[in-house]
Amino acid sequence: MTQISPVIWWVRRDLRLADNPALHAAVSSGRPVIAVFIYDSLVEGLGAAPRWRLGLGLEEFARNLERIGARLILRKGDAVEVLRDLVRQTGASAVWWGRQYDPTQVERDKAVKQALRDNGTEARSFPGHLLFEPWQVQTGQGKFYQVYSPFWRAVKDLDVAPHLAAPDQIHPPETWPASDTLADWGMGRAMNRGAAVVLPHLRIGEDAARARLDRFIASTIAHYKEKRDFLDQDACSGLSENLTYGEISPVALWHAGRHALDAGNPGAEHFLKELVWREFAYHLVFHTPHITHSNWRDGWDRFPWGNGDSADVLRWKQGRTGIDVVDAAMREMYVTGRMHNRARMLVASYLTKHMLVHWRVGLDWFAQCLVDWDPAANAMGWQWVAGSGPDAAPYFRIFNPDTQAQKFDSHQRYRKAWIAELSRTPPPTATSFFEACPRAWGLSPNDTRPAPLVDLATGRNRALDAYQHNKNS
Ligand code: FAD
Repeated sequence: MTQISPVIWWVRRDLRLADNPALHAAVSSGRPVIAVFIYDSLVEGLGAAPRWRLGLGLEEFARNLERIGARLILRKGDAVEVLRDLVRQTGASAVWWGRQYDPTQVERDKAVKQALRDNGTEARSFPGHLLFEPWQVQTGQGKFYQVYSPFWRAVKDLDVAPHLAAPDQIHPPETWPASDTLADWGMGRAMNRGAAVVLPHLRIGEDAARARLDRFIASTIAHYKEKRDFLDQDACSGLSENLTYGEISPVALWHAGRHALDAGNPGAEHFLKELVWREFAYHLVFHTPHITHSNWRDGWDRFPWGNGDSADVLRWKQGRTGIDVVDAAMREMYVTGRMHNRARMLVASYLTKHMLVHWRVGLDWFAQCLVDWDPAANAMGWQWVAGSGPDAAPYFRIFNPDTQAQKFDSHQRYRKAWIAELSRTPPPTATSFFEACPRAWGLSPNDTRPAPLVDLATGRNRALDAYQHNKNS
């Protein structure tokens, strides 16, 4: 009897069994399924923390696949060549995958689709990374949305696909193709001594993500709206780390949030609105891919941002600007791989407005340090704060980090949790920064706090002058 030809499922940022349309279709086809992850130049180009975190996610996902009789095949190289080889070696007649929307991946995927089809192989992509495909949401004039609020109104009552159950088992091929080993790829190499410090803060894999979602819905979502901005509170879902590697689907979050809303939880609508910010970011990345690397708005290319090669930028990265809440946030990111949303806005505002450094410098540093790095949310977030992006606050609205800290960290708990130099007996969260950061930085918890790099009033006035000048020119 001849073997039914397998389907190759190309695994990317969708490291989950539940609610995975590409996997669901492959399993439902009744054919053997070969899951493959490809370490290509795009993976190679990831920042230190996201590449390391992706490796940890792959390790966990491979274990989950084994539990249902499958394997995760690992291959390194150009995606077109790897997939062509694999098709030849396995006799597969189809390659299926979940869609991604940022420009570099879109470009690669188009080339892959074309090459496979030229080869006579069926190439098909599936949804799953978003709630709504970016081309399905349109204004009354058939255009894409450029402002968040009407986007939210357009999507809030749309039907979201039902949540798909995880398969109990996957039909294996007669023989498994050869695979690399994860250890050979050294995905954590660039993390150096930071890995041991960040690791305990991670929630890796589908089971951890689901448990976190359940806990959030059961006990936290009710107060999400009032508490989410407070820097020392664990009041948010914390699921961005899992969403970015696809360890949980946005569909799962949406249905859980809707259910909580229907059950009368007042914070649930606000949670759904935040989730839709992620959708909006991808909507923009798809329709205006330049948002990932160039000013989204016309008129910002002449703005006199610095290029960031300076000692001042190093001090921003080290959490040594002398502005406590900014420094606490930068160290929180270094130690946990994450940063509170409001803190992201504050550090981005200080860099691009008070320091007048280009948002791309900050975007790149976040792409190195965040375990929840997401190409769309990061680009939109930086440009939103800088003023060059969609829906941006008017240029004259410049966050005052001290006022923000008084409001959202009134007892200094957040600042003391992350800055060792502020206490005589600092907590482990604060001292662990010195274990994680490069020795070459020569920092010690006994250092005295530096004076502000840029005084808040001076920085604000300088930024306002620059914005006014740019506007007039
Ligand atoms: P929750 O408050 O629980 O929200 C649920 C989900 O909604 C999040 O997991 C996230 O997917 C989405 N979400 C919430 N707020 C936003 C937002 N403002 N923009 C887009 N999506 C949102 N988010 C990332 O996932 N990766 C990034 O690289 C990233 N970089 C950012 C850079 C800057 C300068 C700024 C201002 C924001 C950035 N964000 C980024 C958005 C936001 O800070 C994080 O999504 C949020 O802090 C994640 O925490 P959470 O999962 O607890 O969110």
